[in-house]
Amino acid sequence: EKPVENHAFEADVARLLHMMVHSVYSDKDVFLRELISNAADACEKLRYEAIAAPELLASNPDNRIILTLDEEALRLTVEDNGIGMNHDELIEALGTIARSGTRAFMERIEAAKSGEGAQLIGQFGVGFYSCFMVADRVDVVSRRAGSAEAWLWSSDGKGSYSVTAADLADAPERGTRITLHIMEDAKTYTSKWTVERIVKEQSGHVPVPILIAEKPGAEPAQLTDGTALWTRSKSDVTKEEHTDFYRSLSGQYDDPALTVHFRAEGRHEYTALAYVPGSQPFDMFDPDRKGRMKLYVKRVFITDDAELLPRYLRFVRGLVDTADLPLNVSREMIQQSPILTAIRKGLTSRILTAIEKLAESEAETFKTLWENFGAVLKEGIYDDFEKRTQLLGLARFRSTTSGENWRTLADYVKDAREGQDAIYYLAGTSLDQLKASPHLEGFRARGIEVLLLSDSIDSFWTMSAPEFEGKAFKSVTQGAADLSRFAKLGAEETATPEASGEVNDLLTFAKQALADQVSDVRASDRLTESAVCLIASESGYDRQMEKILQSAGR
Ligand code: ADP
Ligand code: MG
Repeated sequence: EKPVENHAFEADVARLLHMMVHSVYSDKDVFLRELISNAADACEKLRYEAIAAPELLASNPDNRIILTLDEEALRLTVEDNGIGMNHDELIEALGTIARSGTRAFMERIEAAKSGEGAQLIGQFGVGFYSCFMVADRVDVVSRRAGSAEAWLWSSDGKGSYSVTAADLADAPERGTRITLHIMEDAKTYTSKWTVERIVKEQSGHVPVPILIAEKPGAEPAQLTDGTALWTRSKSDVTKEEHTDFYRSLSGQYDDPALTVHFRAEGRHEYTALAYVPGSQPFDMFDPDRKGRMKLYVKRVFITDDAELLPRYLRFVRGLVDTADLPLNVSREMIQQSPILTAIRKGLTSRILTAIEKLAESEAETFKTLWENFGAVLKEGIYDDFEKRTQLLGLARFRSTTSGENWRTLADYVKDAREGQDAIYYLAGTSLDQLKASPHLEGFRARGIEVLLLSDSIDSFWTMSAPEFEGKAFKSVTQGAADLSRFAKLGAEETATPEASGEVNDLLTFAKQALADQVSDVRASDRLTESAVCLIASESGYDRQMEKILQSAGR
């Protein structure tokens, strides 16, 4: 008898599993896509390791994924001959849920329970565990490439799993076989018709061929050929094919808002396929979130860790395939490679140009894109000096005159008052709060538009972006507003009276009383209703930045 180890899933997981299985996905079909994309990933990882260790592939060089149906026994098996998992990897990989961004994930799940979030949750995959939607037991037999051991992981998805040594005779020669014990009410997932339909709909462009055997022992027939979608010519790929591929690549379930597919020729040759998601990934603002672009060399997957895009484009999903790097390039070497720098530059430009075009041709789609990712794109205004002007051109703003619409800086400049040489803004944490600020009074009275900036990033880029079309950005909370040059709307032009004797007395008194707290007290044009407001000095930080620094303990 072989010893059986029993393990408990990490804390809270039992509850999580239950919720996921019963409320997260309305569409159970997705479990198959999750298993197939894991199988394909495993094949790609093997091909990568085999560059340094060709013997790993030797006896069994062609990667494939085989689905085996068993309608009578209610079984569905997904088998790959990829990298496989050893004992520790099985525990590490299948015993931990949503390893990256676990907290954000849990928060989403909590939100989903309150109803409204239910669609949100369907936007991203939870991977392997989705198979418990259709199976009441899942057995995973895996043999890591090059290993003389095989292991069986087994669970009913209710909170614990077991790991046992498996007989080599019962294990794949290499890779992983996942057997789903399909529940009675999900038995359609053992029918050829259903499984074929799902594969064609959802996994048709996975870069590893998929075969199907109608029953155990039957000869498998090919369902998809594993041609890499991105190698086809741009005009040959349909919108549906892109959506399908995007979903299997991203693990999200929405439609891409923008697809950028091109082949670069000339000094560096590469193919790029990039998608802007139609909705916000749940870990968008997780500081650990990495970019999600895969790097291939001659169709061999190398890494998804290469920084193929700047951070402010970290929401973009996709891949780059190049023949300019050697296959055996190490991941460390990649980061320093000038080829990668050139690719990053080229790709960034293409994506920004495509977003610009989208803004012109599909205003509604662009609006959603901006609402989802504008706060991230704005990071580029101070991060990427070269693209600053372009990003400022793309940026959309709420302002004192925008209502529910979005304004561009070009709109702002066009409607600026004669002689107005600054773009005025007010930064803070919420739009409602901003709208109520007394700092706006004098500007409103004079018909001078003020941008209302409520993303935390706004305090940073405004300090670094010197100008747009010759106009400097200026916080309305900072320095002398000098509004006397502009007549109030609807009012007769009346020169602001010089602070009269009484006012001067008041100012003197206030200066004395507040001597330790403020550097100056002065009469101002910026208020029409409120009696006083606090402003920051001309040089240095504006009010919002002061608050940010204060709360950071500076
Ligand atoms: P993700 O694919 O997003 O990492 P999953 O829950 O789908 O999350 O899978 C968890 C991990 O389990 C994978 O990252 C991988 O390490 C491992 N895994 C799952 N299926 C396989 C497989 N068929 N072969 C090898 N490893 C696998
Ligand atoms: Mg997965």
